Amino acid sequence: MPRSLSIYIHLPFCEKRCDYCDFYSTLDFPALNTRYRSTLTENIAWAGRQSQFASRPVQSVFLGGGTPNLYKPDAVAEWIDSIRTHFLLSPDAEISMEMNPEFIQSSAQLEEYHRAGVNRLSVGLQSLIPAELELLGRIHSAEKALQALNVLRSSSFSNWSADIIYSLPGQTVPDLQQTLNRVLQFDPPHISAYSLTREAGTRYDFRLTQGELSEPDEESQLQLFLILRSALGHAGYRHYEISNFAREGFEARHNLHYWRFGDYLGLGAGAHGKIGFRHFFYPDDLQDYLRRSSDGDFEPQSETLEPLSALLEYAVFKLRTAEGILRSECSTQRWTLLHQALTKVQSKLGTEYFLFEESGIRCNFEAWLVLDSLLLELADMLEREAKPAIC
Ligand code: SF4
Repeated sequence: MPRSLSIYIHLPFCEKRCDYCDFYSTLDFPALNTRYRSTLTENIAWAGRQSQFASRPVQSVFLGGGTPNLYKPDAVAEWIDSIRTHFLLSPDAEISMEMNPEFIQSSAQLEEYHRAGVNRLSVGLQSLIPAELELLGRIHSAEKALQALNVLRSSSFSNWSADIIYSLPGQTVPDLQQTLNRVLQFDPPHISAYSLTREAGTRYDFRLTQGELSEPDEESQLQLFLILRSALGHAGYRHYEISNFAREGFEARHNLHYWRFGDYLGLGAGAHGKIGFRHFFYPDDLQDYLRRSSDGDFEPQSETLEPLSALLEYAVFKLRTAEGILRSECSTQRWTLLHQALTKVQSKLGTEYFLFEESGIRCNFEAWLVLDSLLLELADMLEREAKPAIC
């Protein structure tokens, strides 16, 4: 059975840049959306003609951005139809689309996206507190987000995610609880909760530098993470990845495919893909993408990871998930190197962060609390112990 594939489609347009975001997007939708739409359709067809993908079933598609909902359902249908024509799109494939709350107005409108082929929505609520939305520079209000949730509840989308951001400057435990309580009233099957991070060059970064805002200290971040996990655990969600929670059977298949180190194509300006240990990408440059594609040049740039970086990348992804590193998915060499390195990290730190089992190695919750520093230790250990064996 050929290994499955996922497809990520990047739609690099926004109405306004949010203060914390460093994803690639432009404000050029009015001028460039028509040309981008047809170019993307050609890009899908071009990728489908690459023989290495011909026999691989596509198990998920994700339309992300940017703000994908700037495009009407007919454009979305065109891309999904093109994927169906040029790839082996599985009949039960998960087809997700990011959607911003200010856009969700009626269930009839959502129905059109459903008919276009989308069967899962990822709704960027971020917060339901007005001051927090303002701090993030979001275009929508808390009231608008609640209206969107009401519309969503009456639509035929049974699979959707409420996406929130926490660890905001000044955010308290009751603030986070307030957003969570309100979101939970709508019983989302899936919740993504990402901690706000400081990205260079954003307005948020600038405001921190100016001293206008201060990042929450480690203790507050820890408290917020604990509240998040406990509130969602009590509400029946499984914490299946460090930033993701789902009801049974509603885990994001597309994201799980990434975290399980599966292969995926990234199509569109600024999109990234990965086949094995080779990374492919189209640069963050819409004009360049359009110019090259008008000459029929859809070849993405690529780079192959060094064996050590590949091993570390594999471990980083897998340790973020509750299932961890599965022995059955590893070659003997990969399993041995990771087992040895993680055993040494554990004994160096003197804390039982990793659970070593017959079927694999996974993090316990305490490890997730300090995962970044554990991964630095792992990188260091692999550099010293594994490099001579694999490079
Ligand atoms: S968070 Fe979403 S809507 Fe805001 S700038 Fe980034 S991509 Fe655009």
